Amino acid sequence: MSNSQEREKTQRKKSKMLDATKSLKNIMGRHYLAIEQAYRDGNPTAWATSGSPVELLYAMKVQPMLPENSATMSAAQHISKDLIELAETQGFSYDLCSYFKTNIGAVSKGINTFKGGIRKPTFMMATDVICDTHVDWFQTQGERMNVPVYLIDVPHIVSNVNQRQYQYYKKYVEEQLWGLMDFIQEHTGNELDMEHARKVAENSYKLSEVWRDIYELRKNIPSPISTKDTFGGLFPLFTMPGLKPPIKLYKRMYREAKGRVDAGIGALPNEEFRLGFEGIPFWYNLKYFAMLEKFNAIIVYEPYTFAFAKFFSNPFEEISKERLLKDPIEAMSSLMLSFWYIFDLETRVKWFKKTTEDWKIDGWILHNNVSCRPNTATIYDLKRHLQDDYDIPCLIIDADQNDPRKFNEIQVSNRIESFIEILRKRKET
Ligand code: SF4
Repeated sequence: MSNSQEREKTQRKKSKMLDATKSLKNIMGRHYLAIEQAYRDGNPTAWATSGSPVELLYAMKVQPMLPENSATMSAAQHISKDLIELAETQGFSYDLCSYFKTNIGAVSKGINTFKGGIRKPTFMMATDVICDTHVDWFQTQGERMNVPVYLIDVPHIVSNVNQRQYQYYKKYVEEQLWGLMDFIQEHTGNELDMEHARKVAENSYKLSEVWRDIYELRKNIPSPISTKDTFGGLFPLFTMPGLKPPIKLYKRMYREAKGRVDAGIGALPNEEFRLGFEGIPFWYNLKYFAMLEKFNAIIVYEPYTFAFAKFFSNPFEEISKERLLKDPIEAMSSLMLSFWYIFDLETRVKWFKKTTEDWKIDGWILHNNVSCRPNTATIYDLKRHLQDDYDIPCLIIDADQNDPRKFNEIQVSNRIESFIEILRKRKET
């Protein structure tokens, strides 16, 4: 297709999703079919939390299932509210994580996989790397469903942790990963094949790498892709790290986005305002983000979706491909100590400042996510530092990633409109 044809096609509608992204449904469909196949064949399955080493499950021929991903499906199909309310009738508090409660409701009701239901697994694997809710959640469900649970405790690195402590933490996590493999062997009979583990690790690295490359393209003005490609596009990164099909999909996304960059075409015609969005989106109303288009505003960076390019979102140390292939378990333990959501305030402020410069961001929308402490802890301090120390405009909005009861659309829209006005005035002066 020529540049002018591509330009015409893009401008017919606002904020054009990449054609390649449309294949995302097929890739995720394959993931769910693989789960069904595992049950049919009697192969082991496991629930895993995000931030846990899903690659080790693939390496040991265990089919992963990610309840958070399932919860987002329920939200997208507008049934999360009912499931959450069902969990609340069972005594789970209004303030608890809405993913957790969606999962409680989904399992209680026994809804099908494609609506966000999730079957009883052989075992569960959880880690507190992102939040303690993950641990409480899987312990609760492990007990209710009578399923063994393996927990990985990950210390948080803060700015005064020295090298000696860091090495100690790493060893501590590494020991637990070896323990996990013993646990898997005990419950499935499957043994670790290090050669297969290396292949899985290499695929996971490549997946991160292409996602990083896609993100790099967003630095261009105009940005070739919008959240229509990244919010949903993120799922293979945490459900299928280690498999080949999502790498192909991301490469297609990259090529198409690069074509737009080369032709000077943006995902949004007339891009005026470039925004960052911190936090998990509202899965029950993803279309809401299109409202930014009427202001010629586009989101060009989300720490949440970039965090899953885990080999490249680590400010502490580089995890090279060579290092990963030499000793996948050692590299994995380093990765687990460097997940975006465990950074302390000082590191986050620096990272936001650098991101603002690199991606040429005019202002940040920070999602004060009512049910998620890791997402919201320090959010007011973060805003204060970015605004006062670096003159970076920020807006905090209150909502929830899976519970539509906590999203006041009119209020949020009014605040965004005022924020855009502030950005406009800054540009004019
Ligand atoms: S939404 Fe927040 S609290 Fe809930 S599981 Fe995810 S990180 Fe944890």
